[in-house]
Amino acid sequence: MKILVINCGSSSVKFKLFEMPEEKLISYGNVEKIGEEISIFKYYGKVNFEKKLKINNHQEGLELIANALLENEIKSIKEIKGVGHRVVHGGEGFNSSVRINDEVIKKIEDHLFLAPLHNPHNLAGIKGCMKLFPESIQVASFDTAFHTTIPKISFLYALPYDFYQKYKIRRYGFHGISHRYVARRAAEIMGKEKYEINAITCHLGNGCSVTAVKNGKSYDTSMGFTPLEGLIMGTRSGDIDPGAILYLLENLNLKPNEINELLNKKSGLIGISGISNDFRNLLPLYNKDEKVTLAIDMFCYRLKKYIGSYIAALGLVHAIVFTGGIGENVSLVREKSLENMDVFGIEIDKAKNEKIVGKEGKISKETSKIKIFVIPTNEELRIAFDTYQIISNS
Ligand code: AMP
Repeated sequence: MKILVINCGSSSVKFKLFEMPEEKLISYGNVEKIGEEISIFKYYGKVNFEKKLKINNHQEGLELIANALLENEIKSIKEIKGVGHRVVHGGEGFNSSVRINDEVIKKIEDHLFLAPLHNPHNLAGIKGCMKLFPESIQVASFDTAFHTTIPKISFLYALPYDFYQKYKIRRYGFHGISHRYVARRAAEIMGKEKYEINAITCHLGNGCSVTAVKNGKSYDTSMGFTPLEGLIMGTRSGDIDPGAILYLLENLNLKPNEINELLNKKSGLIGISGISNDFRNLLPLYNKDEKVTLAIDMFCYRLKKYIGSYIAALGLVHAIVFTGGIGENVSLVREKSLENMDVFGIEIDKAKNEKIVGKEGKISKETSKIKIFVIPTNEELRIAFDTYQIISNS
């Protein structure tokens, strides 16, 4: 059964076509820089190509993808039995992937205010695919769904209770598709059932978050009401005293949109280093440039603090997992965030750690009570799997 997975960002559409349940990747690619003077269409499958052309909106991008699939991989659009969509915010309403119908679309529309930067594009992808693949079953997979098991003691902020009831201000958590994927894979590697594992999963990419997984379910996570809270990220500050924001508002007369830009785009690694948000540019300067070194050390220290606090929250931890572009590729971050934690039963094997780049592997010493893994994330496969299951059960 052919399942297409679509991930629409603000100016991009990523796709992967799978044969399920074999989990075989047939083709993949993306459309980038939608709406700009020159957009890019990259396609990998029976043929590989990269085209530069003008793509005005998501709908045009989706049409290009559908046509390329028809030319190269399938004879009829009807062969695609399901389309799985990544949706960033499902609010409290969705605790698993769902088949899309009018009611689901309405609920996603009702939650646009919670994720104004993401959900409108996800919705554009859904509506576009309903036109292009009218006979396929459309499924939504939410980044927030995995975190709907977080208990109230960890999802509530200590604001007046009304603010949760009236305005829905609470921790939602993000990257749930990735945390769920790697937690399940860690359970598999350790020979455990999916609900037997306690793990701390670190998704370190453009956005970074860490999740405490208890009995296979999300118990706490570092991102909150928005994807700004928690770890230091490429361009985002992560945790900051809200008092500092009030100070900026009142004393420096910064406007809300300027503060938004400051915290989301100009902070984090790029804010401290003054050089880049990308580890590929920062690593060669580690221990050479003072601010780059500080930025990386701060990044690792924040992560270490979260890992320590989640050990306390979980009590028993079987595994720590690193994933995402940084988690999979940067051994320095893994080493520094776990150094001197023997007292918690965490012993990283430095030699193994250095050898694991961009692939799955165990990087803990045999004596380490808590096992440490690098597991490349595969959010699209997780979405394809959910879509396949929903179709098979309908
Ligand atoms: P992601 O959002 O998971 O694609 O991660 C993107 C981030 O991962 C980039 O901004 C880099 O900081 C980091 N990254 C990706 N690939 C590498 C690599 N080969 N070496 C070092 N850092 C990398």
